[in-house]
Amino acid sequence: MQISVIIPIYNEEENIDLLYKRLTGVLHDLKLTYELIFVNDGSKDKSLQLIKNLIKQDTEVKYIDFSRNFGHQIAVTAGLDRAIGETIVIIDADLQDPPELIADMYAKIKEGYEVVYARRKKREGESRMKKFTANAFYRILSRITDVDIPVDTGDFRIMDRRIVDELKKMPEQHKFLRGQISWIGFRQTYVEYDRDERHAGNTGYTYRKMLRFALDGITGFSDFPLKIVTFLGISVTGFSFLVLVYVLLSRFIWEDYAPGWASLMLSILFIGGVQMIAIGIIGEYLSRMNSNLRQRPLYIVRESNIGK
Ligand code: UDP
Ligand code: MG
Repeated sequence: MQISVIIPIYNEEENIDLLYKRLTGVLHDLKLTYELIFVNDGSKDKSLQLIKNLIKQDTEVKYIDFSRNFGHQIAVTAGLDRAIGETIVIIDADLQDPPELIADMYAKIKEGYEVVYARRKKREGESRMKKFTANAFYRILSRITDVDIPVDTGDFRIMDRRIVDELKKMPEQHKFLRGQISWIGFRQTYVEYDRDERHAGNTGYTYRKMLRFALDGITGFSDFPLKIVTFLGISVTGFSFLVLVYVLLSRFIWEDYAPGWASLMLSILFIGGVQMIAIGIIGEYLSRMNSNLRQRPLYIVRESNIGK
């Protein structure tokens, strides 16, 4: 098996047939033996039925049907878990990622790169708000993480088997695949493309899901927020020392004070500062533990035609 294509599906009934046609067109041109892994992430429409129809005409079509909606990153992870190809492609089902680009990306793999991701030059047909938030997010993220996560890049990419084998060793619950793949390293490069509009249907990424995803990315790859807390604690403590001078002056030199006020002010400020430092430090440990503690399975499969 030369190439596995992983396609997460959440309510994509209007896109599946055209996607299949364009994908297999490219794969046939490249003369590659392939498998297409559709991961149905709890779709509420006829997506699963359409996938099953494809299986009747093409035995290289595989599917994994989730027991409910687990989210895009988990759907891709399930595909990675079961893909057997030498090279693995991750692509959206809504044709925002043009399948034809796989030819260019595959050529780079043949040059010896282990990861080729697709970097968007333009994004068509997405709301201003979405473009603005995505833009800001990628830039903030790249500032506060140590890992070099490429900007303006989604999960549309092609990878060597070795990358996927490494990914499978990372059991973390809150997946941020594009960050994990950057973290793994090897030789990575990109091709540029203009991101098309969604062919049909609506985005499955609500602002809520986007926010959660952004937080997964930040907490998974940066301790910066925790450091802010610690920094805050240190600042408050420092400030309380300034107030200490003022309070002592008003008590003993200027003798202009309300009895009891001095000690009260001091202890409140000081304890407050120390507490924030403490919470910051505990948080440093807690955030690391928390993500490793809950050993729930990442997803539940209802049915699949991949033996395993
Ligand atoms: N998707 C998924 N589960 C979800 C949301 C989305 O599997 O909970 C899939 C969706 O079917 C598509 C891909 O992930 O193939 C990207 O989603 P979408 O196009 O809705 O996101 P956007 O491009 O708007 O960021
Ligand atoms: Mg999309």
